[in-house]
Amino acid sequence: MPPTRTLPRICIAMGLPDVPNLLAHARREAEAGETFLEFRLDFLDAPAVGAAAIADFLRDFPDTFILATCRRHQNHGRFNGSIEEQLAILEQAIGAGAQAIDVEIETAEAAADRVAQFRGRALVVVSYHNFEATPPMDTVAARVLGVRADVYKLVTTARKPSDNVRVLAAARGLPRQKLVVLAMGDLGFPTRVLSPVFGGCFTYAAPMATEGTASGQASARVLRSVYHVEKLTRTAKIYGVIADPIRHSISPAVLNRAFQSRRIDAVYLPFLVTPAYLRDFFSLASKLPLAGFSVTIPHKQKIIRYLDAVDPLAKRIGAVNTVWRKAGKWRGANTDVAGVTLPLARILRLPNSSVLVVGNGGAARGAAFALSDAGAKLAITGRNPDRVRALAKICSAEPLLRDQLNGRKFDVVVHATPLGMFPKVDECFFDGAIPGEVVFDMVYNPMETVLVKHAREQGKAVIPGVEMFVEQAVRQFELWTGETAPRQAMLKAAMEALEPK
Ligand code: NAP
Repeated sequence: MPPTRTLPRICIAMGLPDVPNLLAHARREAEAGETFLEFRLDFLDAPAVGAAAIADFLRDFPDTFILATCRRHQNHGRFNGSIEEQLAILEQAIGAGAQAIDVEIETAEAAADRVAQFRGRALVVVSYHNFEATPPMDTVAARVLGVRADVYKLVTTARKPSDNVRVLAAARGLPRQKLVVLAMGDLGFPTRVLSPVFGGCFTYAAPMATEGTASGQASARVLRSVYHVEKLTRTAKIYGVIADPIRHSISPAVLNRAFQSRRIDAVYLPFLVTPAYLRDFFSLASKLPLAGFSVTIPHKQKIIRYLDAVDPLAKRIGAVNTVWRKAGKWRGANTDVAGVTLPLARILRLPNSSVLVVGNGGAARGAAFALSDAGAKLAITGRNPDRVRALAKICSAEPLLRDQLNGRKFDVVVHATPLGMFPKVDECFFDGAIPGEVVFDMVYNPMETVLVKHAREQGKAVIPGVEMFVEQAVRQFELWTGETAPRQAMLKAAMEALEPK
């Protein structure tokens, strides 16, 4: 039985409905190099057969470390037997070679002597689960420490961003190398990456091509290649992005790649933050602590009221997409504007260029201010005449309704509406000829929008939205680290993340 400090940092939780399926998936994981697998025997139609099959599996993959779990349905597992029957199956799993067993706290409290007898023959993980919320963690820790175990696993459900810090802080109160702390759900995802960094001995991942056994689980490939969970140290700087929804953000793929290619000990995490919990997020940001974060829909405007200092251009635009902490103060800037002007400035001179901005939302507003500051002659169009006029007025642009575009020509068209964006990929603001020589489409998912396709067919120069995305991320990286960003590596990461799966 290995000491906990030599355990791999990632355990693949295998919850499959029958033994042949479990073994087939386990084999795939082992062949891909995974060495730590949890067999959820309670998920099987025949748990005892699954326990016995561990011996066959270990004959083929002797270097694999198997954790056997047979959680009772009273405790949110799927095993319908008594505690006696549960322990008999775990006994059988140890007999078949399982090097660890997971026993939920309810069973461990009810059968403390029996569970203690397993120790020495297998690592005993005593687990606490809360599927409703994250209760006071010192009470939880005190409860699990009431039984003897090799590893204590505390799993709660995150209901708000700051629950992540409360769960991770529990790691401080318990002996190092003896703990796994996790919060379930999309809100709790950061704990899955940070648990080993905060002293937990391992984290859980979903098997390839399955849903996993708990909400918020990512695959081992993602934990390893995007988040580098096995390489982060206790002093790693923590960054992230706040958004609602967050699932499809490509920012973690791009910024983590940037940190990795510059060999910076840092991680960039997705934080699901709903509008009601923006204030609560700052409690997490201060306590974790976060070194900086990106801000996207729907928080770019509201975030300003929580910041100590805001760069003048971001203040004028009324939107911040980049936050960092300096001398204990939260500072904000807007790098979306560089995402618009820099790719354009590479192919034309902006002063006196004529530019048509399509749309009048947050991104259009940022582009309009930046382009007007750069000396371009601006026109604004969109579907809502009042909003078009309002934006045109504050940035000295010409307001144009759609039917006033006939016969007009511009050096550049900057498209800043969601038309053409996934899932409505067939939509386009222009029916026929696009009235610009350069077409800049802010939409980046898909990379080749209908507008970009039509622009290429009409012989226009094209700047796809992914260039803007990468440019604003490049500026964020440079603000946070003071180093030159690895632009090519970031572009490659963005394109890989946007490829249809
Ligand atoms: P937003 O604040 O919600 O504004 C959306 C704008 O699009 C509004 O002017 C809205 O008009 C208009 N619009 C929405 N549906 C329309 C339709 N069916 N026909 C015509 N106009 C329509 O969004 P945003 O933050 O400005 O983002 C706009 C686009 O830019 C999104 O696709 C976003 O993904 C993209 N973006 C890309 C990057 C990048 O890095 N590449 C950065 C930021 C944004 P009304 O005012 O009339 O509702």
